[in-house]
Amino acid sequence: MSHTPTVAIVGSGPIGSAYARTIIESDPDVRVVMFEAGPQLTAVPGESVRNIADPDEKARARKLSQGPQSGAHRESLGLPPGVVVEGMFTAREGTHLLDFGGEGSAHAPTFPAAAASTNVGGQGAHWTCAIPRPGFSEKVDFIDDAEWDDLIAAAERLLHAQTDAFSDSPIGAAIRTLLDREFGAELPPGYGVGTLPVAGDPQPDGSMMWAGANTVLGRLIEVGTPESERFELRDLTLVRRVEHEGGRATGVTIEDLRTKEDSFFAADVVVVAADAFRSPQLLWASGIRPRALGRYLTEHHVMITTVALDEERMRALVTQDEFEAELARRARNAADPVAAVNRIPFSEPDHPFSLQVMYAETPPFQLDPAHPAAGNRWGYVNMGYGVRKHPRVEDGITFHDDELDYRGFPNMTIEYALTDAERPELEEAEARLRRAGAALGTFVAEPRLLPNGSSLHYMGTMRMGASDDGTSVADPWSHVWGFENLVVGGNALIPTANTMNPTLMSVAIAVRGARRLTQELTGALAEDAVR
Ligand code: FAD
Repeated sequence: MSHTPTVAIVGSGPIGSAYARTIIESDPDVRVVMFEAGPQLTAVPGESVRNIADPDEKARARKLSQGPQSGAHRESLGLPPGVVVEGMFTAREGTHLLDFGGEGSAHAPTFPAAAASTNVGGQGAHWTCAIPRPGFSEKVDFIDDAEWDDLIAAAERLLHAQTDAFSDSPIGAAIRTLLDREFGAELPPGYGVGTLPVAGDPQPDGSMMWAGANTVLGRLIEVGTPESERFELRDLTLVRRVEHEGGRATGVTIEDLRTKEDSFFAADVVVVAADAFRSPQLLWASGIRPRALGRYLTEHHVMITTVALDEERMRALVTQDEFEAELARRARNAADPVAAVNRIPFSEPDHPFSLQVMYAETPPFQLDPAHPAAGNRWGYVNMGYGVRKHPRVEDGITFHDDELDYRGFPNMTIEYALTDAERPELEEAEARLRRAGAALGTFVAEPRLLPNGSSLHYMGTMRMGASDDGTSVADPWSHVWGFENLVVGGNALIPTANTMNPTLMSVAIAVRGARRLTQELTGALAEDAVR
């Protein structure tokens, strides 16, 4: 009997999904089984909860994603309600803090806002869907430009990239005009004020159907397609160990969280895409411990503010008819407050920042009704500069074999510090944010630097490298050094200092890894070598 090659994928976020889709579409024989520790939230697996119109249902889906500390998650497992432990911060809806302060909590006093999502679709069920391309030194220097462009194009197809979402919003256009007047002359051609690329599908009523892992999985989750017959997604299944022997992964040990039973699942290839903290933790727990594992942690720091748009300046650029049409459009999409997305991208040498400007009907917090800008009919912008963090070996995770976390894995301590390498750019970002705010209206929240970990974009902890010199975990095709069939995926692979939302870049890197894997599985690489 012929052997059907089997790929086990750990994690059902956009990256695990990009592996599943690319492998199944390129290899007609392979079977993919994806293991996800969290529950399925929506009828279509991995859909963005932002697309759920009913507020109660949306809130429940978000709570279900918030890990074992969340009451809704416990209920889904038929367990009695547990104590919901809150740390010093409240995690963003749909996520749970790693350092939640309760029993089995990680230790992250210097990276306190670090958070994860535990659900089918991962953080990709909750994300904002901004997918700018990395530029200049943000890119990986050992992948040549022609291949990189092709990988980015493939990633954009998987994520249904839209470069001109909400571009017909007259208020969005007015915001661009004002920002361009302020900054345009300082920015290089091609890197000026524009719309922010996002992932999703514009709807006829002007709203967006936001992309999630379902978008990436495509035909793999459509009933009756040949691709769906070779794909299986098991939710509430925790991968406890990657099993391996002599530099080959042999499969994974899994725990069915419904029955609490452990079993072994044999696989020809294992792909670990379980986020930038839990992937290295799983490798560590499996005795796979390259020197760089968990180190070189970066994120992009976020300097943010909220501004009420100035009526006079808006009226000079938006007609009364356009304004009323905009109000009507916003009212039709009450479930989703975002009504336009603009940006100034990263460029070197003079603009090493990414500015994102989200136009919304309401501020992201409860504004005191007595505030003069409360109830501003022209709306608000929430905007933030992404500021890069230069990778250092000192920043990262220490794993404790003698202390288990709430899942029974070696617990983590995260150490992290901003240094003189970042401070001048943080100060410059604040100055620019003040200029941007003054150009658009009145501050309703002063510019401030969010606590470490707030970006939710954690990079570097399983970085890829050109050679096995101890500063990387994976080779240029995302294989763990020293393993022929163990692949890692996610933002953790990104070795560079980045200012932007990393998912597009990580999907592009995953497409590269998956294409290579397919060549290996089909024997195409060996045939090439013979030729
Ligand atoms: P994840 O999506 O985190 O998925 C990993 C999955 O692995 C999780 O579901 C987890 O439960 C599962 N898992 C972990 N351990 C195990 C195990 N041992 N066994 C089985 N399963 C396991 N990015 C952008 O680029 N643009 C944005 O605008 C943006 N906005 C965001 C807004 C919010 C509120 C959040 C939360 C995130 C945002 N992000 C954004 C980040 C983006 O969602 C992530 O970059 C992306 O989801 C990473 O994909 P992933 O597949 O690597 O990991």
